[in-house]
Amino acid sequence: MKRTGPIVRENAKTVHEPERLDLVVRGGRVVTPEGVLDLEIGIVRGKIVRLAPSVTDATDLELEAEGRYVFPGILDAHVHFNEPGRADWEGIATGSAALAAGGGTMFFDMPLNSEPPVLDAAGLREKRALAEEKACTDFALWGGLTPGNLDKLAGLRDAGAIGLKAFMCNSGIASFPNVDAKTLREGMKRAAKLNLPVAVHAEDEAMAAALTEKIKAAGRTDARAWLDSRPVAVELEAIRTALEIAGETQCALHIVHVSSPEGIALITEARLQRVDVTAETCPHYLLLNDKDVERLGPLAKCAPPLRDEKRRKALWAELRAGHIQTVGSDHSPARPEMKDSANLFAVWGGIGGVQHGFELLLSECEKTADQDLPIFAAVLARNVARRFQIDDRKGQIGLGRDADFSLLDYGKARTIKQEDLWTRHRISAYVGEKSRVRVTHTYVRGTPIYADGRFTNLPQKGQFLAPHRPRC
Ligand SMILES: [Zn+2]
Repeated sequence: MKRTGPIVRENAKTVHEPERLDLVVRGGRVVTPEGVLDLEIGIVRGKIVRLAPSVTDATDLELEAEGRYVFPGILDAHVHFNEPGRADWEGIATGSAALAAGGGTMFFDMPLNSEPPVLDAAGLREKRALAEEKACTDFALWGGLTPGNLDKLAGLRDAGAIGLKAFMCNSGIASFPNVDAKTLREGMKRAAKLNLPVAVHAEDEAMAAALTEKIKAAGRTDARAWLDSRPVAVELEAIRTALEIAGETQCALHIVHVSSPEGIALITEARLQRVDVTAETCPHYLLLNDKDVERLGPLAKCAPPLRDEKRRKALWAELRAGHIQTVGSDHSPARPEMKDSANLFAVWGGIGGVQHGFELLLSECEKTADQDLPIFAAVLARNVARRFQIDDRKGQIGLGRDADFSLLDYGKARTIKQEDLWTRHRISAYVGEKSRVRVTHTYVRGTPIYADGRFTNLPQKGQFLAPHRPRC
């Protein structure tokens, strides 16, 4: 197939048309969770109004996507852009730009590591105002669930929080304390009444603390020591506790960054028992393993930690089996000096992968695109929108929905370089990795924000989305 760059053609305007389209995307292979379809897309005022093998309406612009996949805008439900308060770690402008360069059209920012963290309605409104000013993609905001803010949850709901996030182990941020089982139970009871999903970082604090103390006492601080301090059992213990409480309280539970196939198995079993639970994993658990922690050191430190190769492969099998509902980046960057020590316990944990993590997953699908891309359209977009009740507007290339999409070009392998990064700090565990796919364009509500490696200067500001949940 001849590969030509997408061409935007401006047609002569005709004055007699009752309704013209603003844009038609032609010649692309549209990825839906049901399959890859040869469809053209007609867009008016940021919404998809035509979806057909051939769109014949008059249009102002055409985007030629021949030879490319049109992929639904990625909804990254798990980022830490750290603003306000720690914008020197990332910030909303650079974080959302990096997301868009990787095909993302919306992020859900976590309530930490901004300062103050989002623990009440005022905190949420402050972050919302900043993001409305600085984000180039649409966004939603998580509120926090901590021992001190149980009476603020209704306020967070009313201010439009997409859900609540709790830590079952130390978060590393003093202003965001973790919950014990009792507080989590009380919080989830209240969240259920408020129709707010609760996301948990599932690692058992007591087990992790005891193991860490033992390993540090033995004088071990290297990569293997870090991995040994948080074995799969630490994750499984917390997942069991969270599932039990979700069953009791009937609260919608979302377990973020599940790192092990054993964790997914527990969640799958609970879903069969009709517990309202979904599982998220992250690109790094599917792309990297424990050997990469030894190779990359601090750049590959995250919690839960990366697992062995056998588990990494098993996680792909769980994904393809439909047992993992969403994939989020857990983009958690820091200043470079916070990543600069041979002592893995001393450096900041978190993988900054918002730009290339998803792309590298899609790169893995080069030979199996027609089978695998629909799975990714589900876990990166549709399922996220459904779980968090924004599927009236987001999550699919479908009639009446926002025209959020990217164009994917499979071609020659290229090596990811430091200068490709749009994040504030040009550090990433993925520099040096080979990608066989390139995101050439990203459109948010029908407007191109990223095209051919550059950001357009079209006026585009991110919109805040709140769930369309019924009020209780
Ligand atoms: Zn996180």
